[in-house]
Amino acid sequence: MVMEYVSTRDGSVRVSAAQAIVQGISKEGGLFVPVQIPKVSLEFIDNLRALPYAGRALRVLSPYLPEFSQDELSGILSSAYQGFDVPEVAPLVGTRDGVFMLELWHGPTLAFKDVALQLMPRLLTACAKKVGERRQILILVATSGDTGKAALEGFADVPGTAICVFYPEAGVSQAQRLQMVTQQGGNTHVIAVQGNFDDAQTGVKHIFADSAFAKALDERGIVLSSANSINLGRLLPQIVYYFSAYADLLERGEISLGDPIDVCVPTGNFGNILAAYYAKEMGLPIRRLVCASNANHVLSDFLSTGVYDRNRPFHLTTSPSMDILISSNLERLLHALCGAEAVVSMMDGLKNTGKYALPPEAAEKLRSLMHGGWADEAQVQAQIRQTFNSTGYLLDPHTAVAEHVLRAYQNQEQDPGPAVVASTASPYKFGRAVLTAIQENQAPEDEFACCERLSELSHWPLPGAIMELPKKPVLHARACAVPDMRRALTEELGL
Ligand SMILES: *Cc1c(COP(=O)(O)O)cnc(C)c1O
Repeated sequence: MVMEYVSTRDGSVRVSAAQAIVQGISKEGGLFVPVQIPKVSLEFIDNLRALPYAGRALRVLSPYLPEFSQDELSGILSSAYQGFDVPEVAPLVGTRDGVFMLELWHGPTLAFKDVALQLMPRLLTACAKKVGERRQILILVATSGDTGKAALEGFADVPGTAICVFYPEAGVSQAQRLQMVTQQGGNTHVIAVQGNFDDAQTGVKHIFADSAFAKALDERGIVLSSANSINLGRLLPQIVYYFSAYADLLERGEISLGDPIDVCVPTGNFGNILAAYYAKEMGLPIRRLVCASNANHVLSDFLSTGVYDRNRPFHLTTSPSMDILISSNLERLLHALCGAEAVVSMMDGLKNTGKYALPPEAAEKLRSLMHGGWADEAQVQAQIRQTFNSTGYLLDPHTAVAEHVLRAYQNQEQDPGPAVVASTASPYKFGRAVLTAIQENQAPEDEFACCERLSELSHWPLPGAIMELPKKPVLHARACAVPDMRRALTEELGL
């Protein structure tokens, strides 16, 4: 069977993996999904035990990427994960009986997006060659903090690419800003926007839609592209670590081949949990997917009622990467549940009225697949404290949301089996929030001082990637007003 991808909004749009990755999104606005999700056997899973992470990735990703030879993919994979600070890449750490943290934050920016963004630029440039794209690819990113840095690290000095990240000047944390403005790499560009995240995102969308600008870039041999989480090249690498976690559980004798596990994921744009769904559809024995939300619990409401309704207040929380009211990747699951026609009408509903409803049978199917729950800010703090006091383990606020929701879920289940929690950020990335949760005294304002105190309390080593930041030279000082983003980009690139 030839592996093909289809648009979630038009069944007649079919593309290869390479086209899907280069294009990012389908012309009519749909996302690319595999026409058929490849299936694997239990023996396939058992054989992963003996392999290092890159080897596991090669096995899991090969069927999705038929245009790559084994040698080519294997070369890309072994270099992609060199920047991780542990050889396992995504280690599994037991915290309480039958519950394991899948630590996805050992990459250069200390959050799970590195797992995809260290690989995706290499896939993208290889795919561009395969589809005959010879222009330089200029990646534009608007970021609320984490994605920008992960994308900069991923694309830095990747031949044939350049990247420009726009961030809201007053909307990112001290550590996040320093992470971006000290970024090295001859092809990296960072611009502060005098506005909020929405302003930056809207500005980037305008640049993408500016055909005169596209023509001017084309004359200089440049084409624009994006690296956001709806790109297939970001989704596929995330499937791997669920297989890897299962192989580790087998290897340690925690489970026997075929035993089902639950998987709990702190969810924002629905990319990470969708990857777990793909793993399950491929044949990984996952019993239930547990979708954890913070105070912006549009998804957990959707799972219990079948109605998606974004008309609600937006809450700023200590888990900012989950502060999302439109989870873009959910569209891929909707497509699997009800097909393209229904997706088109649901997405119209979302655009026009901010809501849509699943047909009752699909809602039922979804409920058997996925459980949703959420945690408020007090519950997140209490969870960080409780886990630290009982086990010495530090949860970041995103992972704490997941642990809280998993506990509630396990309490209501008769016989909860083993469970894996996607641990999506290092606690040091959110040092102030974590310290506030575990100590009585008021935490210092300075993020770095908080991290130092946290390390004294926990004896967890301080990551160099954070503590070196104040000493690094600032390499990107450009700032612009919202209406001037395109001009600032032109000047920045020297066009
Ligand atoms: C992006 C992010 C999430 C949310 O992941 P989605 O794939 O968008 O659901 C959760 N936690 C952290 C730390 C993140 O950076």
